[in-house]
Amino acid sequence: MSTAELVDGTAAAAAREDMTGLMTELVGMYRSITGDGVRETLARVAKDVPVAVHEVPSGTAVLDWTVPPEWNVRDAYVADRTGHRVIDLHASPLHLVGYSVPVRATMTLDELRPHLHTLPEHPEWVPYRTSYYTPGWGFCLSQRHLDAMDDGPYDVLVDTTLEPGFLTYGECVLPGEQPEEVLVSTHVCHPAMANDNLTGIAVATALARLLAGTTHRYTYRLLLLPGTIGSLTWLAGNPEVLPRVRHGVVLTGLGGPGPLVWKRTRHGRRAVDRAAEHVVGQRDGEVRDYSPWGYDERQYNAPGFDLPVGRLTRTPHGEYPEYHTSADDLSFVSADNLVEALAAVLELLDVLEHDAVPVRCGPPGEPQLGRRGLYPGIGGHSAQEQVLALLWAAGCADGEHSLLDVARRAGLPFAAVRRAAVLLAENGLLELRDLA
Ligand code: ZN
Repeated sequence: MSTAELVDGTAAAAAREDMTGLMTELVGMYRSITGDGVRETLARVAKDVPVAVHEVPSGTAVLDWTVPPEWNVRDAYVADRTGHRVIDLHASPLHLVGYSVPVRATMTLDELRPHLHTLPEHPEWVPYRTSYYTPGWGFCLSQRHLDAMDDGPYDVLVDTTLEPGFLTYGECVLPGEQPEEVLVSTHVCHPAMANDNLTGIAVATALARLLAGTTHRYTYRLLLLPGTIGSLTWLAGNPEVLPRVRHGVVLTGLGGPGPLVWKRTRHGRRAVDRAAEHVVGQRDGEVRDYSPWGYDERQYNAPGFDLPVGRLTRTPHGEYPEYHTSADDLSFVSADNLVEALAAVLELLDVLEHDAVPVRCGPPGEPQLGRRGLYPGIGGHSAQEQVLALLWAAGCADGEHSLLDVARRAGLPFAAVRRAAVLLAENGLLELRDLA
């Protein structure tokens, strides 16, 4: 099976249960940028695809950064005088500020307040907060929950460890016919929240599972990393791989609201940008320019690396109120949106794998399709699309335009134009040359 057979939507639709099931299994794990939550997450993904788990020691110098101490959490609560847990980590991983240092204390509500985080504008929601690189501790809770607390005193326990250990990331390499690579990257450091970023993990895992069953030209490298420090660690540790990276995409936020959004590479006009702009445009999505603000695309695109890595999301981070709150739960994401996102990624890869330059072989002028039985036997929209694709592929086979150029100009799916070009080639009317 080739990757071209993955683009009709059937494969993406069939992955629906795998993606939603994976998210349900991952949602309760205590993920952070290091620690056992990341290991558990990778172990679960490794049941679906061959993930190699890498462990990089704390204190390792990584470019301008240092791998931090490993953080793990056993328990955390704020309890009243009767021992009742007023705030309990086990009710939601979001209740504890990520990377909180250990604490055991008795405090009044006023003493506790500087360590409590709420969202007054959304009084039912719990915010997501971290303190990776500044030692501190705290709890997150809803404003309504805080308003119901009395003056205390309270027993406060943060039973965490922050000590020399490892940064853990996962890597799944699917060798292709060529050593040149396509990078697919997603972050695995967020606890509890679904859109950011269980959807990225789910789509990337489903993608790798589908690719593992196909033949493909490129070698695919799926990276499952803690944000920022994880991608920097991978970049620093793999200098020999970087020259082989031809295209790349960061996947995140794919199940929430809004149309698909492609964020261009820093260069802005890479092959992956042109391909993604067409795929996303065909799905009424948006294309945005690069900015050094966002997810790991900003590391891949940074000067010194300058890799051609764009980003696919729906409504981007910070632009929906549920972002980084307890409202980004499993009910916030839609399985239909996940399926569409996976289908779009498969289309993007189809363009990267199969774009070519059609060159006319037959006589000049429109070829007589009917004589060769190339007109579809039955009518309707898809038949009309097939005829248009044949006319466009034949009508632009001047050796100066690629199949993607033709698809963009025709406003047709790339796969339709490619199928038409293959049919014409099989009938001796054109040949398909590799892109220069
Ligand atoms: Zn985030």
